[in-house]
Amino acid sequence: MLLIKNLQAVVTQNSDHQIIQDGAILVEKDKIADIGQSTKLEKKYAKLKKKIIDGRGKVAIPGLINMHTHAAMTLLRGFADDMPFKAWLEQKIWPAEAKFSPADIYSGTKLACDEMLASGTATFNNMYWQAGPELRAIKESALRDFMGLPIMDIGPMDFGPNYVVKTYKQFKSKVSDKIKIVLAPHAIYTVSEKTLIWCKKFADDNNLLLHIHLSETEEEVKNCLKKHRCRLPDLQFEIGFGCNAAWKAVESGRKRGAGHGRAGFKQQSGYVRRNEIGRVDS
Ligand SMILES: [Zn+2]
Repeated sequence: MLLIKNLQAVVTQNSDHQIIQDGAILVEKDKIADIGQSTKLEKKYAKLKKKIIDGRGKVAIPGLINMHTHAAMTLLRGFADDMPFKAWLEQKIWPAEAKFSPADIYSGTKLACDEMLASGTATFNNMYWQAGPELRAIKESALRDFMGLPIMDIGPMDFGPNYVVKTYKQFKSKVSDKIKIVLAPHAIYTVSEKTLIWCKKFADDNNLLLHIHLSETEEEVKNCLKKHRCRLPDLQFEIGFGCNAAWKAVESGRKRGAGHGRAGFKQQSGYVRRNEIGRVDS
């Protein structure tokens, strides 16, 4: 047992979103067994043999959720800076990733897990190829993972439906309560409409969530408007997807399960202008 006491506040996610001032948390094995005011919990569990941590000056919050990441790409941090997104991705990142061994992906994912834990992240939504080493790294960490199986059928990478079905069959029995498989069609510029529709059906048939880049860059939004005469969230919604988004998707995504990823921050191409949040263009 572990008692963390004298916390300035414990922020809960109970139905009242209660914030307990001068709070304490009792932990049994790897689960929160009780929370409440510090003096009350100390009294209630006075006779219990336990380790005590003084949380004075600290606030306990629920674990954060990283809504979008490519965990193993921690290994590419600082690689190919100051390039436009498309050139960065196609000329530098994809060729470098093609050389990643399973050991590289395991190490990169492990590093990402450690960094996420250090920042208070408890769950992450990942999109990366080679599920085997990812699974191994996750099982060694305390994190929960939505393990996105990538799908791409436009461009040099070939992760089409055959790859997905094979990978899903291989790993579906190896996941646990804290690891769930998700279908991750990469983006509309790397996945054909036919395959996106296949993804939706496969996800429905197997009760899987979908994870996709959406409105990642301004160029992607402009191309979509030109080709489909609508914005990406509307196109995705037509196909039957929820969304992960910047730009207008922030607004429409509130109704459809969107998160704002930070992956594009490296190129300053995936940011949201503060004054655009909450505004929907016609
Ligand atoms: Zn991404």
